[in-house]
Amino acid sequence: MVSSPKVEKVLRLLQRELGEEKVVLDPVHRAVYERDATTIPVETKPPAGVIFPETKEEVRRIVEVLYEEDIPMIPRGGGSCLTGGSAGLRGDEVVVSFERMNRFRIDLENATVYAEPGVITYELQKAVEKHGLFYPPDPSSYKYSTVGGNVAENAGGPRCVKYGVTRDYVLGLEGVIKYGQTFKFGAPVMKDVAGYDFTKFLVGSEGTLGLITGAILRLIPLPKERRVLLAFFDDLETVGKAVTKIMTSGVFPSALEFMDRVCIKAVNDYKNLGLPEDKAGMLLIEVDGHPLSVREEVVEVASILERLGVETKTAKTKEEEDKLWAARRALGPAISKLGTGKVNEDIVVPRSRLAEYVPAVQKLAQKYGLLCAIFGHIGDGNLHVNFIFDASNPDELKKVERAVEELFKLTVEFGGSITGEHGVGITKKPFLKLQLGEVGLELVRGVKRLFDPKNLFNPGKLVDLT
Ligand SMILES: Cc1cc2nc3c(=O)[nH]c(=O)nc-3n(C[C@H](O)[C@H](O)[C@H](O)COP(=O)(O)OP(=O)(O)OC[C@H]3O[C@@H](n4cnc5c(N)ncnc54)[C@H](O)[C@@H]3O)c2cc1C
Repeated sequence: MVSSPKVEKVLRLLQRELGEEKVVLDPVHRAVYERDATTIPVETKPPAGVIFPETKEEVRRIVEVLYEEDIPMIPRGGGSCLTGGSAGLRGDEVVVSFERMNRFRIDLENATVYAEPGVITYELQKAVEKHGLFYPPDPSSYKYSTVGGNVAENAGGPRCVKYGVTRDYVLGLEGVIKYGQTFKFGAPVMKDVAGYDFTKFLVGSEGTLGLITGAILRLIPLPKERRVLLAFFDDLETVGKAVTKIMTSGVFPSALEFMDRVCIKAVNDYKNLGLPEDKAGMLLIEVDGHPLSVREEVVEVASILERLGVETKTAKTKEEEDKLWAARRALGPAISKLGTGKVNEDIVVPRSRLAEYVPAVQKLAQKYGLLCAIFGHIGDGNLHVNFIFDASNPDELKKVERAVEELFKLTVEFGGSITGEHGVGITKKPFLKLQLGEVGLELVRGVKRLFDPKNLFNPGKLVDLT
């Protein structure tokens, strides 16, 4: 049974118009689209229906009908959101899943690619690499997350320290807003200052302003070589110093990733890597570019670290590098094995404050008696703070909630942001005011009202209108 006879009637109408296989109402199929990858416990409900458009015109028509009928919509890509952004909340929403809109067209002359929202990021990257081109944004979920989801969340990853985040590669966007109105902003050009920059503005809007149906993405030349170094630290203070020294040395690493002691052990247990478990922390440093400069830069980074008394190791083969990267990308699941519950917060602080911030977080975790694992993109100040807990114990969950609130307050006091990657969604919505203040929050509400006066695009996520 669908949540209400009215919603069911509208979905049946769309089913007749678009084709039976594009509008799904059966409860088993709907249940698959209820949740996303969020590990924080949130109450969810299965959507009233799931629609699988195949063209822009079908998306336009779907929005036109649902908007007119006051039916809320949840746009969905790979469903890998970690803040509840693609989860069902009310039971009357209709999921618009973009998985069948997965075509892309490479424009070699302009070094751009036009991608539909359902394209898997990794597939796009592999295809452009065949032409010597590079699409750098690399969330760890890149093998199953989509261009639409990455744009809606402004996703980032290890390479962002050198190459920037998804927003830096979006040159244009197409989509549908209130009542089925369509928009097309930007073009395959590097310069465009015609009025407000709605393209960049829609990046990170988390499906709350409308549905994205296409993106023009910038490509850059593929670096010819990559080398990976590992550095092992006896204390966290030296990690902070090493990061500052590397980032101010003239070498621009293509990744600068940190793992603390808990993470090193977790990833050893998960992937049997034999990393030293007696160390306080580890850095994975990657440099890329022309083979000659890469060779010089590896030597330079190693000598910076040696001068700080830090032990280093260089990956000798491509297989060794791939193994290290696979371990880094597996950190999420490796840490999940440490307990029955895990909360992963993706905070950012100015790099200069990391040396004080990391010990302050560890102290906070101790105060609540929680196991804490910290890893992340330390080169851009973006760390994943994981609190591990016993999910069957309600008292533990309460402790985690208090620890998370304190973590966000601490982060804002350090001049940082409550999210560098995962977005606001449901789980961080109560804390947005902490960062933006009342004036900032009212501006967010104002923009939401402009694009979506009936509050039907992903309602309950990012911001409430009342
Ligand atoms: C193991 C794991 C590792 C991760 N690592 C990273 C990481 O390194 N960096 C990072 O940034 N994130 C990471 N994430 C989070 C997540 O993968 C990203 O937020 C990703 O961009 C979501 O893409 P998706 O296609 O799965 O989107 P979904 O989860 O389907 O949707 C995400 C949001 O985008 C909206 N949306 C989706 N498609 C559209 C569209 N066409 N139009 C409008 N709105 C749309 C949805 O409504 C939702 O609010 C990780 C997640 C997991 C599970």
